[in-house]
Amino acid sequence: MLDVDDQRSDEEKSVNETTRMIREIGVANFLKRVYDDEAADLCQLLRDLDKDHKLTPTGLEKKSQLQLKQMLKRKAVIIGKQRKNISIPNTHDAVLGLLSASSNILIVSGAGISVNRGIPDFRSPDGIYDQIRRCNYPEIDEPEQIFDMATFVAHPKLFYSVAKKILPTHFQPGPAHCFVKDNNKLLRNYTQNIDSLERKAGVDRLLECHGSFAFLECLRCSAKYNTDDFAQTITDGGVPLCTERCMKEYRRRRKKRKSDSIDNSAATSLDVSDQAVVAFFDTRNEVIPYLKPTITFFGEDVHSDYEQRVLDDSQVADLIIVLGTSMSVAPISEFISHIPHKVPIVVINKTPIKGLDPDVFLQGDIDVIVSELLVRMNDVKEEEDKKKCIV
Ligand SMILES: [Zn+2]
Repeated sequence: MLDVDDQRSDEEKSVNETTRMIREIGVANFLKRVYDDEAADLCQLLRDLDKDHKLTPTGLEKKSQLQLKQMLKRKAVIIGKQRKNISIPNTHDAVLGLLSASSNILIVSGAGISVNRGIPDFRSPDGIYDQIRRCNYPEIDEPEQIFDMATFVAHPKLFYSVAKKILPTHFQPGPAHCFVKDNNKLLRNYTQNIDSLERKAGVDRLLECHGSFAFLECLRCSAKYNTDDFAQTITDGGVPLCTERCMKEYRRRRKKRKSDSIDNSAATSLDVSDQAVVAFFDTRNEVIPYLKPTITFFGEDVHSDYEQRVLDDSQVADLIIVLGTSMSVAPISEFISHIPHKVPIVVINKTPIKGLDPDVFLQGDIDVIVSELLVRMNDVKEEEDKKKCIV
């Protein structure tokens, strides 16, 4: 029989063990282990993480498995985000040292790396949402509704009148995109941007968390197109329509209708204008073949590979670099919780990130900072190449 002190000691060990596991392997892998283990006691794990003793045993027993899993995830994410800083100075040298010592680097990027390219941020003052708000569009109540599927289907012209301001065709990558591209130890770039500038810069190991404006997809037949091919239509205020399968279907059905008709209009030429195509499908209550950018709208799932990539990448990453993002939007808002606590985090951003105390923080204009890093990285590389030649 254990005495009270021993029991307390065991309880503390239990709390430490669960918490330690989250710190060692990150939340995603912790949850995977728990869910894969049929014997896992979710109630006990929740009690382990209940530092404030807010949970009551009877309350937990009444919860469904799904509710317990949701509670466990929430608790684990909090623990995962509570990191102890590794003592590293906030200097360019420190970042260069980390870059040199690392083998598998994850870069998380956001709107801050594209603002200097002329692409407005979404949420900052004078950002895209602010601009939409000032326009007082009667079709929407909130700016975010622009990226709502129902709004898009009902008012595609409204969507494109806003989207044409961030049409990828008109923008080029900058120093921060090159910094990502030139990183030969890049394990993956998780970008929250839809401007596809990482893609344009040639970043191979890229995961576009919210999709990309580089492509358009037909709402009716799912055919994919390059956005560049419709840049003029969009710039001129039009709404791109499917030009292949759905246009063929339109022609076939219109011709059949004319040949079935008793009037003599078959000889007249077919109206293939956008208005005629839209009206044809609209009057039949069928899906209109509008092309929608392959970006994730509200209510749609994030990139299908995201969870598996995070699961795998978090186990081999040895450096995290956060570039130009406040990390406030899902799924990236939980990204740090999935990273083992021993992995250093570098933030390069104009402002501090709420809720994240990184190991190294370089504050300022991102392009200026990464340009300096790129120059110094090239200097080091040239030195190394010279030494190789001498040998
Ligand atoms: Zn189509």
